[in-house]
Amino acid sequence: MKQFAFEEINRELLTFLDESPSSFHAVENMKTMLEKAGFTRLYEGQRWKLASGGSYYVTRNDSALIAFKVPKADFAGFQVMASHSDSPVLKIKANAEIEVEKQYVKLNVEQYGGMLCAPWMDRPLSVAGRIVVRTADGVATKLVYADRDLLIIPNLAIHMNRKVNEGYAFNVQKDMEPLFCGSGQDAKGSFLKFIAAEAGVRAEDILDTDLFLCSRMKGTVLGLNGEFIASNHLDDLQCAFASLKGLLAAEPRDSVAVHCVLDNEEVGSGTKQGAASTFLKDVLHRINSAMGRSEEDFLTAVASSFMVSADNAHGIHPNHADVADPTNRPYLNGGIVIKYSANQKYTTDAISGAVFKTMCDRAEVPYQIFHNRSDILGGSTLGNISGTQVAFNTVDIGLPQLAMHSIYETAGSKDTAYLIEAAKVLFSSSVQGDGDGSYRLN
Ligand code: ZN
Repeated sequence: MKQFAFEEINRELLTFLDESPSSFHAVENMKTMLEKAGFTRLYEGQRWKLASGGSYYVTRNDSALIAFKVPKADFAGFQVMASHSDSPVLKIKANAEIEVEKQYVKLNVEQYGGMLCAPWMDRPLSVAGRIVVRTADGVATKLVYADRDLLIIPNLAIHMNRKVNEGYAFNVQKDMEPLFCGSGQDAKGSFLKFIAAEAGVRAEDILDTDLFLCSRMKGTVLGLNGEFIASNHLDDLQCAFASLKGLLAAEPRDSVAVHCVLDNEEVGSGTKQGAASTFLKDVLHRINSAMGRSEEDFLTAVASSFMVSADNAHGIHPNHADVADPTNRPYLNGGIVIKYSANQKYTTDAISGAVFKTMCDRAEVPYQIFHNRSDILGGSTLGNISGTQVAFNTVDIGLPQLAMHSIYETAGSKDTAYLIEAAKVLFSSSVQGDGDGSYRLN
C-alpha cells in the first residue's frame, strides 16, 4: 500500500489558503514556492531564452501564473494541469464609504461570481487585494492585506425578518454591505486612508484599487478522526496547490510539464488572464520557439499533448444526498473526481477519461465519477473554454467538496495528496496517439 503524508500536506495546504486571501496573494505565494525551488522568472514583455532541463514561470496581471519544466531531451508535447486562482467574493467599490445616520460607516460592495451569500454574515472579515499608486515616472502596484479583524456584515434579527428560515432573497446592495467603523470623524476617504496606512503609502497617491473582502476564519482539520478539512478558497486553490506540488516533484522526460493557474473562472474566464485568453497558448508558443522549433513542430506537439482541467467537484452532501446522480456517487476522501457531461460542459470523453484513469492507476490513487442529475443543471469550468484557444485532449476533474462557493468550504483530508500523486504522473509522462485510436502513455 502506498503511503501518503496526509497531515503534512494538509498543514501546508491550509497555510497556503490562509495566506492567500485574494487571487493576487495566491499567485504571490506560488511565486515564492517556485523561487524557492529554483524556478527562473520570465516576463511576457521580454525575450525568452530557455534551456533544456530548465524550470521557469511567468505571470499575467499578477493573478494568473504558468510554471513549466522543460525536459532534458527534445520534447514531444505538453502535459498541462489547469486550475483557477479566483473565488466568488465581494469587491469594494470606489468611493466606498456610506454613512448611516451619522452613527456608522459601512462600505459599498458588489458581487464577484456566484457566491452563497448567507455564510458571509456575522463573521470577522478583512480586506485584501492590490492598490496602484502614483510614482515619479508612472504607477506601481502594491499588494495589500489588512491582517486584522476589521469588518462584519451583521444579519438582521429574526424578529424583523420572521420568515427568513423559509428562504430569503439576498440583495447585495442592501444586505451585504460590511460595517467598517463608527462615525464621528469625516467618513469620506476614511477607508482609503486606512488602506494607505496599511500599505505604507500616502492616501493621495492611491490612484486605483482592486480590493476584496476576505474571511478571517483560518482553515482547519475536523471530524472525529481528522477526516475533513474546512477553509476558504478550496475551490479552486486546493487543485492549484496540488498541481504545483505535483510539478515541483515531477521529472518530465518527453513532454514539457505545465502548471497553469488562470483567473476569472468564476465570472466566465473572458479576461486577458482567464481561460478564454491567449495566455496559455502564448506561453506554449514561446516555449516552442525559444527551443528552436518550428510552427509545424508546435502543432504536432499540441496534437501529442494532454490537459487536465482541475476544478473542484461536488461530493455527495450528507443532508442532501438526493440532489446527486443516482449511480455516480463521489464522496469526500473517495479520490479524484472525473467529471462528465453529455452536452460538453466538461471536456471529458471516453478517451481522455480512460487516459486519466490510467494515470491514477499508475499513481496508485483512487478516482470516482461525477455526472449531474439529469434534471439539475450543473456548473461550468475552464477546460472547454481554454480549448477554444489551444485544443488539447482534455479531461475535467476536481476534488470532491461540500458547500462550493461558500466563504468556508469543506473537503476531504486525503484527496489533496491523491491529486498531487496524479499530477506527478501527468507531469512526468507523455501521451502519444497513433491517429488510429490508440494512445501510448510513456
Ligand atoms: Zn472552481
